[in-house]
Amino acid sequence: MEIVQAPSVLQSKIIELKKEGKRIAVVPTMGALHEGHLSLVHRAVKEADIVVVTLFVNPTQFAPHEDLDTYPRPFEKDCSLAQEAGADFLFAPTPVDMYPEGFDTTVSCGGITSRLEGASRPGHFDGVTTVVLKLFLISQADCAVFGQKDAQQVLVLKKMVQDLNVPVEMIIAPTVREEDGLAMSSRNKYLSETERRDVTKINEGLKAAADLFEKGERKRSTLIAEVDAFFNKGSMFSKEYISLANAECFEIMDTVVEGALLSVACRTKESQTRLIDNYILGTL
Ligand code: AMP
Repeated sequence: MEIVQAPSVLQSKIIELKKEGKRIAVVPTMGALHEGHLSLVHRAVKEADIVVVTLFVNPTQFAPHEDLDTYPRPFEKDCSLAQEAGADFLFAPTPVDMYPEGFDTTVSCGGITSRLEGASRPGHFDGVTTVVLKLFLISQADCAVFGQKDAQQVLVLKKMVQDLNVPVEMIIAPTVREEDGLAMSSRNKYLSETERRDVTKINEGLKAAADLFEKGERKRSTLIAEVDAFFNKGSMFSKEYISLANAECFEIMDTVVEGALLSVACRTKESQTRLIDNYILGTL
């Protein structure tokens, strides 16, 4: 595996590989790699000849009060994990490499970026779409692998790809969970021991609602109340939102149909860790 820092260097190396007919996959990450990230790399290895894993804690997708400075950056460990998983290139630019002085372009996706995560984190998705389009162009990717864990990010990026005719195939991989069901996240490291035990109720609530849906329940308020009941049992976190919406456009649905997206955001009380998770109903 080759580690590359400069965008222009990676881009020219990949252009040469593409002349040989190689298919390129990119897996964008912010590092602190866990099994969830590695599942995306494994999928990329199956989909392409050359796999580029990107490691960049993108400052423009963090609000000033968020965890940009404390976000874990275990560079050496990430290098070994990416290599073991089958990456050919690890692209690890600095913020100045990505945003040199005078950088002044933003990719913004409109409507769906203002709801849920976008409402809780204003400006977040502009940071995401701008950096991901740059990563697509730098890596000259034919396909890209993203996790369903960040459900709204998937929708926003698919919209960008469609609206801007970006020639990248979007591949979405399922959420990888800890044994007790908690969705893996680099931010789980922030949790105190008691918080860690308590936040399993997030998955339990989602799963209970998904089970109710499987048994035939279609009323939005009942399904949301089921999640809420589990969240209320959790003393170490509070909810930011519970959303049950159309998985394509995020429109609220009173009568819930198969494929609806049940998504939640919570914040723990001690370490102030923000956790998100989701289930697509009817896919248990
Ligand atoms: P991040 O480093 O958090 O920006 O995530 C990089 C990529 O990994 C995104 O496509 C995420 O959706 C994906 N990802 C994060 N956690 C998981 C998980 N538990 N299972 C599957 N994919 C994940």
